[in-house]
Formats: sequence, C-alpha cells, structure tokens
Amino acid sequence: MPELPEVEAVVRTLRPIVQGRRIRRVHVFHLIATKPQTPTRVARQAKGSRIRIVDRKGKYLLLILDSGLLTMHFRLDGQLLWFSDFKELMERANHGKSGVHVDVALELDKGVLGFADRRHFGRVHTWKSADDCPGLSALGIDALSRDFTSRRLTGLLSASKRPLKDFLLDQSRVAGIGNIYSCESLWHAHLDPRRSANSLQPLEARRLHKAIVSVLARALECCLHPAPDFRNPEWWFQGLESILRVYSREGKPCRRCGQPVRRVEQGGRSTYYCSRCQK
Ligand SMILES: [Zn+2]
Repeated sequence: MPELPEVEAVVRTLRPIVQGRRIRRVHVFHLIATKPQTPTRVARQAKGSRIRIVDRKGKYLLLILDSGLLTMHFRLDGQLLWFSDFKELMERANHGKSGVHVDVALELDKGVLGFADRRHFGRVHTWKSADDCPGLSALGIDALSRDFTSRRLTGLLSASKRPLKDFLLDQSRVAGIGNIYSCESLWHAHLDPRRSANSLQPLEARRLHKAIVSVLARALECCLHPAPDFRNPEWWFQGLESILRVYSREGKPCRRCGQPVRRVEQGGRSTYYCSRCQK
C-alpha cells in the first residue's frame, strides 16, 4: 500500500516527465475513479491546463495546474502508467484480460499519463484550489517536511490520549504514515504501540521522531532504487520487505531480542510489535 515514501518516489520520478506539459484531453474509462466527481467536472478543470508543479502532501499526489489542481490518491494499489501517445494508449489499454488496465488517462502535449487501480479504490479529482479539497485541507504536518521537527511532534503527542499506533495513523496530526511505517517506527523507537501518545517522556518523543524520519528516509531510498518504471504495467516497489524489521512478522523472532513478534488489532488494522523490547 503506497504510503508517504512510495508516493514521494512516484512524484520525484514523474516530475521531470510531466512538469511544464499541457493537458490536452482527459479520458475517464472507469467512472468510479473520479467519484464522487463527474468525469465532465474533472475534464473541465484540467483540459487545456499546464502542469506547473508536481508535488505531494501526505499520500496525495498533486498536479498544480495553471488554474486549480488535480489530485491522485492511490489507496491500496493504484499506480501510474506511461504511454508514448494516444494511439499506444488505445492499442494497449482496457482490452479484456490481455490489456493494460487504465482508469483515467491524461493526454498531454507529449505522452499520456495513465492512472490505474484494478480494485478501484484509488481516485483522481480536480479542485479550484487546495482549500476546496477536504482530504487535503484536513491533513496535518507532512512527515517529510522540514516543519516536522521533534518539538512539533512532542507537542502533538502531548495533546492526544490515543494509542501511539492510532495517533500515527491519524492523517490530521502527522500526514503520510500508514500501517507499515507506523509499526516500523515504533519498533525502532522501542515504544509499545498501545501506549497513549501523551504518556511519552520528552526523550521517548525525540526517539520516536528520529525513528520516523529514518524509517521514511530508508524506505524512500529503497523506493527510488530502482525508481518506478511507468512504462512497465507490472511495475511495483521492490525490496521493501528487506528493510522491514517487524511488520508482517508475526511469530518470527524479533530482530533485536529474539522474542516472537506479536500481532494485535488496533482500529481494525494489524499492529506488529515486540512485547519484550517495546515498552
Ligand atoms: Zn524485541
């Protein structure tokens, strides 16, 4: 599931390809991909606009246009694809089982950018401004931004009674961290995911901040080597399993102390942690 590092890797790879390009036409092949917006609305805002900036906030990819912006959210396994031109798109996309799945395509003055999500959770929307997008304006501080300091995190933690794991998943506090990297950060910080956020001592909060920053940086490095290959419809992030210390390792020995890793449900999601060395 794309979290902040994965989306950031997509943004960095996409930026040199589409920044400055003009969107000639918008093709919506599967209507669900723009819901609750209509394809007409998405097309009207984007058509004819130049992509000024490719950016990211939290897990959103943003195309800042001449007027307004286009947002993409990949949810569980949405992805981007690249085609040389409209002809290639029409030859390859959505032809039964053998074809490449594409939900929305932005036909640019050079090349075509496709958005695909076979499970249809991902979304493409347009907005007059970022303030109009409820999902964006509700986001808290981005975990990769310079403003995400130890002091800032400490302040946020002290204002919340929620369990640490739930706190980290709350995009309105810190944006970009999902299930995998919250588990990983808490393991690196030696913190029990069930502890309430406001129970952390200043030293523990600093440790958590350091763990989040380093976990995300390492994951981003991994996502960029190799970088996403939008030309290949099978592309996906590789090698991430090798950097994971605790996520999805139920019953296997903790890589620090050897105790079997535990799995518990928190907020309907699986949390993996070590009951011996995470306190
Ligand atoms: Zn352990």
